Amino acid sequence: MTLSVSSAFDGGNIRLVAVDGDRIDLEIVSDHQSDFYQWFHFRVTGCAGRALELRILNAGGAAYAHGWDGYRARMSEDRESWRQVDTSYQGRVLTIRATPTTNSAWFAYFAPFTMERHHDLIAGAALHPDVEHRSLGQTLDGQEIDYLKIGTGPLSVWLYARQHPGESMAEWWMEGALERLLDDADPVARSLRARATFHIVPNMNPDGTRRGHLRTNAAGVNLNREWHAPSAERSPEVLHVLEEMKRTGVDFAMDVHGDEAIPANFLAGFEGIPSWKEEQGALFAAYSDALERLSPDFQTKQGYEIAAPGQANLSMSTAQLAERFGAVTMTLEMPFKDNDDLPDPEEGWSPDRCRHLARACLAALHAVIGQVEEYRR
Ligand code: ZN
Repeated sequence: MTLSVSSAFDGGNIRLVAVDGDRIDLEIVSDHQSDFYQWFHFRVTGCAGRALELRILNAGGAAYAHGWDGYRARMSEDRESWRQVDTSYQGRVLTIRATPTTNSAWFAYFAPFTMERHHDLIAGAALHPDVEHRSLGQTLDGQEIDYLKIGTGPLSVWLYARQHPGESMAEWWMEGALERLLDDADPVARSLRARATFHIVPNMNPDGTRRGHLRTNAAGVNLNREWHAPSAERSPEVLHVLEEMKRTGVDFAMDVHGDEAIPANFLAGFEGIPSWKEEQGALFAAYSDALERLSPDFQTKQGYEIAAPGQANLSMSTAQLAERFGAVTMTLEMPFKDNDDLPDPEEGWSPDRCRHLARACLAALHAVIGQVEEYRR
């Protein structure tokens, strides 16, 4: 049987260069109108029992090439469970080796969360009687920007994910967060919904998601560099979400991402904003401490460098929302690799583990919500 490679589906990304026996040479395709690339998601057919050698020839030019060291690609044959497969990075080429048992195997940078799955997530959540679903507007490709409102409390809590569409772990996190928040028997959910109103955008970048992008929208724009001045032409996703935030106000916000290089879960804050207040910073620290106590999958030793006073990048949402609203804001980063403090050799960092971390993040919010109420009084 002849080996065949395809990516003409929701979230697919790969270019076939050559097939030679069981070896397939491939390239990742850049985001449209952008130089960024690193997300891949493709299907190999005709592969049962064959020792595949998949070589991504342009891996060395990817957005975060240092992210390939210690990284293992994911493979699925049932499109439900995604396992790590043998992967090595040498001479700027990423080589994936696997011997599928069936004639159809799927490979991806991380377990994909497609737009079809996104629509299932939104439809399921919207059926809950206490959820208000709305579209905040449309993207450049004409997709809806889905928004969910949950709860009746006075605090405005914003959770939004996937500004960077290749960071699919961010929407697996959203699945876990919504499961917990909408569990009517869960005491943390019941208390949070009484004390706060949750404003949730599970996917900030539907166009990049469907197009198989790493980092940008349909116009090649990095949405997390637009928050100081979003526009209908370049970044309607940010424009519409920020307009809604101005209507609701923001007391607490979490922006959910994935990081290519660091094998750990960590938070980044809003240090360096012009209006920095000690009390605001102390609440970020209190939240981080609470999450560290609640989840062995979260740590505070590894992370990004902290901005010096006055040096915050206000084009990024976490800094912009902390500055504009005086809110407690944060960026959550999860790994493409694994959490090295608690590794899982089979799956690495995985959809299930994203969902569990989301549950812990809500518990951490519950642990500090009295302090947030006090701060906003
Ligand atoms: Zn990101």
